[in-house]
Amino acid sequence: MAYEYQRRLMVNDQLKARGIRDERVLHAMETVERHLFVDEHLRDKAYADCALPIAEGQTISQPYMVALMTELLELKGDEKVLEIGTGSGYQSAVLSLLASEVFSVERIPLLASRAEKLLKELNYNNVHVTVSDGTVGLPEHAPFDAIIVTAGAPEVPQEYLDQLNPGGRLVIPVGSRYSQALYRIRKSPSGIEKNVSTACVFVPLVGESGWKENEP
Ligand code: SAH
Repeated sequence: MAYEYQRRLMVNDQLKARGIRDERVLHAMETVERHLFVDEHLRDKAYADCALPIAEGQTISQPYMVALMTELLELKGDEKVLEIGTGSGYQSAVLSLLASEVFSVERIPLLASRAEKLLKELNYNNVHVTVSDGTVGLPEHAPFDAIIVTAGAPEVPQEYLDQLNPGGRLVIPVGSRYSQALYRIRKSPSGIEKNVSTACVFVPLVGESGWKENEP
């Protein structure tokens, strides 16, 4: 089946059917060629309703989770966005179509360099990949209008709240190492508003304000 057709089915059956409504998000999900962000032998599974393995024991998130997290960021097009956990670069490509600048941080150099190369080849020119510990955010480019964390955190690092603009949104999975709840946090003038969206499973966010490398 042609990839384009598979993408249309994915948008209808996995995203619209489960309540994703933001037309810009749906359009971005129908546009980005997810099969190019997975290893060649997994291309035929790229549009399946699940996460898939990438190198270094990491994963590319399920399409629905990518769409949901992106929708929760409420992007209009002129935002500066921070993504923690570049991984394959797929989520960065989706964000690239929906915001003005995307700063993406990855701790594993091999993943960062592969993603950076692919994003450049595909002309996602407003994505900037940095190799560092993203648990402390990216102070040199702060503040951000939106922050998305694509790895599971034990708690919300204060750095993210500090690096958000007033009115900014933070979407982050928080919980144990093996299962989390998806939080959407808004930094409003009256304080921090927190909403819990859904249960989810992400690889751990490892670093100074996250999980320790060898923690059980
Ligand atoms: N958004 C990615 C999902 C990648 S999985 C995609 O679309 O493919 C989560 C990624 O977070 C992994 O690549 C992992 O190495 C990275 N990660 C974990 N802890 C991190 C940290 N402290 N800083 C930056 N990246 C981190």
